[in-house]
Amino acid sequence: MAKGVPLIDVKDITKDFEGTGGARFRVLSDIDLQICEGDFIALLGPSGSGKSTLLRIIAGLARPTSGQVLYRGQPFSGTNPGVSMVFQSFALFPWLTVLENVELGLRYAPLSRQEKRDKAVAAIDMIGLDGFEGAYPKELSGGMRQRVGLGRALVMEPDILLMDEPFSALDVLTAENLKRDLLELWQMGQIPTKAIVLVTHGIEEAVYMADRALILSRDPARIVSSVAITLPHWRDRKSDPFTRLVDELYSILTQHKDARQTPLEEASVQSPRKMTLIPNVAAGAVTGFIELVDDLGGKVDVYKIGESLALDLEDILPIVETCRIFQFATVTSGDFELTEIGRQLADATVLERKTMFRDQALRHVPFMERVLWVLESKRNGQMPREFFLEILQKSLGKEDAETQLDTLITWGRYVELFAYDEDSKLFYLEESDATDGTSE
Ligand code: ADP
Ligand code: MG
Repeated sequence: MAKGVPLIDVKDITKDFEGTGGARFRVLSDIDLQICEGDFIALLGPSGSGKSTLLRIIAGLARPTSGQVLYRGQPFSGTNPGVSMVFQSFALFPWLTVLENVELGLRYAPLSRQEKRDKAVAAIDMIGLDGFEGAYPKELSGGMRQRVGLGRALVMEPDILLMDEPFSALDVLTAENLKRDLLELWQMGQIPTKAIVLVTHGIEEAVYMADRALILSRDPARIVSSVAITLPHWRDRKSDPFTRLVDELYSILTQHKDARQTPLEEASVQSPRKMTLIPNVAAGAVTGFIELVDDLGGKVDVYKIGESLALDLEDILPIVETCRIFQFATVTSGDFELTEIGRQLADATVLERKTMFRDQALRHVPFMERVLWVLESKRNGQMPREFFLEILQKSLGKEDAETQLDTLITWGRYVELFAYDEDSKLFYLEESDATDGTSE
């Protein structure tokens, strides 16, 4: 495989999160990283340092606070088109067969039904689950389920495979088999994947599989070391060069794991993006999720609930983010907790919910309020889409601005603050009194 063509450029990325009490803290700092064709990179770092966050940013599942990710030299909006992810524990749909679960990886691919089926069958064969196409997840062992997850990622034929601790939920022997099989597919060029990034806390695992280990510090995570692993495959874990590398990585890791957590002063990390982006999520999904959390006692671990619902994190996170923006919930280090108003929403009627959404939107989504203000200021109560697009584009870029406007339109309609006419591309105030708004 030709080495060297840059696939991913991670350019000077920082990522801040909001901690308890609203103080922002920096998780990633000054991350510069290039992933090229032929790279098999292991990402090592203390637990909680930001490894998963970095992977999610590369995959386009999360946005950096500053900095940029390029795929083949180009920025992308939304998820990274060249990447698929394998998680520690795969959210398989229990009511779908192995074949159908793998086919899900192709749900957005421009292929015919038959082509999708053929590719899925081939992927299942490749990951060693031939004969299990019709089985359901509950009939499979943990290792087999993880293979299905790998199959779902590989069927997309991604340029880059991102793996987040894919072996750590498996018993030693099962993990070993899966590592060997993956390494063989990679080594023999049996998969079109051109680069792999593996997040692991196993130093041995990194030295066994990867060609380069990147070591992250914590609070905030920086890449403190990049160590080349040039031993030929298959590597002998008992050989001197192998154990020497393990020791070297171990000592680098332990040097960097003790730094203090430093919650940054709010003022110093004002996000450059003042705009509150609303994820493109249906109100029904938000209320449904809030009801569920309320039933579970008002507080859940976002990551665990994804697993127990067999939902992809990427499907849940926009809902979580919407709840947070509307302040129906607080989100701290993965803990999702309903606020007072969130709890009220769970018990409210459909009409009350609409009012609550409207109040929260006007309070916490500045652009929503701005649209309303502009429309109310106009005598005819109308404004062309172009006008708002122009404003949003300045901070979001064209494509994101369009998407954001569509989302705003959906919300504006739902909470009955304003309406939009597709043909004339006009925003307008509903003729009826918008504050009455109780008609379904
Ligand atoms: P790792 O994968 O290295 O264990 P993570 O990337 O999951 O670390 O998390 C890094 C830090 O960021 C942790 O302190 C975690 O609690 C925090 N964190 C992760 N995601 C969020 C989020 N969405 N909101 C707030 N804090 C988060
Ligand atoms: Mg992680």
